[in-house]
Amino acid sequence: MIYRELAGLGKKRLQAAGLEDADTDALILFEHVTGIGRGRLLADGDREASERETDRYELLLEKRAAHIPTQYITGRADFMGLEFIVDRNVLIPRFDTEYLVEEMMRVVEDGASVLDVCTGSGCILLSLMRYKNGIKGTGTDISRAALDIAQQNEEAIFFSSSAKSSRNKGLHNIDSLSEDVFRGMHISVDWIQSDMFEKVEGSFDYIVSNPPYIRSEVVDTLMPEVREHEPRIALDGDHDGLRYYRTIAKEAGKHLKRSGRIFLEIGYDQGQSVTELLSEHGFTDVRVLKDYSHNDRVVTARNAQDTQHLPKTYY
Ligand code: GLN
Repeated sequence: MIYRELAGLGKKRLQAAGLEDADTDALILFEHVTGIGRGRLLADGDREASERETDRYELLLEKRAAHIPTQYITGRADFMGLEFIVDRNVLIPRFDTEYLVEEMMRVVEDGASVLDVCTGSGCILLSLMRYKNGIKGTGTDISRAALDIAQQNEEAIFFSSSAKSSRNKGLHNIDSLSEDVFRGMHISVDWIQSDMFEKVEGSFDYIVSNPPYIRSEVVDTLMPEVREHEPRIALDGDHDGLRYYRTIAKEAGKHLKRSGRIFLEIGYDQGQSVTELLSEHGFTDVRVLKDYSHNDRVVTARNAQDTQHLPKTYY
């Protein structure tokens, strides 16, 4: 079979499986198997695909048709213009979460210390570190397997030569910097296996978290990609979805510097309840920010003890 036919077959299979993004997914998997992207398919579409490529592509299409997320099949997910390694032990980075990182990028100063609680793939902390300079990062997760992935991502983004390609896709024009400069600028992340703040010591300029926040009964109603394949412990926020925000409201203040600020991703309907939780625990200047779809998405607040004004870079 020639490449063009094989790609066409992929689309048809995934469309028949009723997948919303059948075309895109088919092409991503096609490129994963053959190394041929959309552009080259136009030029090389008449070339014969090998039997191995055909078999492998068919296998991956079967997986996708069984609702395994494309990112778990390829082992890669795009986030903030970077490529992250993912597997079933970590949540696939969401577009919604890019908004959280972008808000932080406006506020976090170079050289600041940042604690990412429930770090998962490390996508929040690592992209912040990648686009800022000299950030001292600490990431916690209850899952050792998730931390292994986060560590691999740190390695891939800051150290390996294959990181170059993702680097070039980055938002800032830093292509001209050599590998060594990157090495020199990067301060290794302190990855800690910990149930929330349990094993965390010291205090930080910023604390960020995208904790599990979906109500238990809602998790079972999500699309099969999420419900059946993503780690439930990364999604399920208990009966009211607020379990982890309660811990954060109670514990984060102890690990936040006087002038520190926290940033939390929230579900679209949690702005008020998370605001109340934080206010009850003495956080001040609590703000709910809307994402690009105009949904409440981020709550940010200052440390209880901070009597100073906002950093002048912020609002
Ligand atoms: N936004 C994610 C989703 O809808 C949930 C992420 C989370 O629970 N932190 O799948």
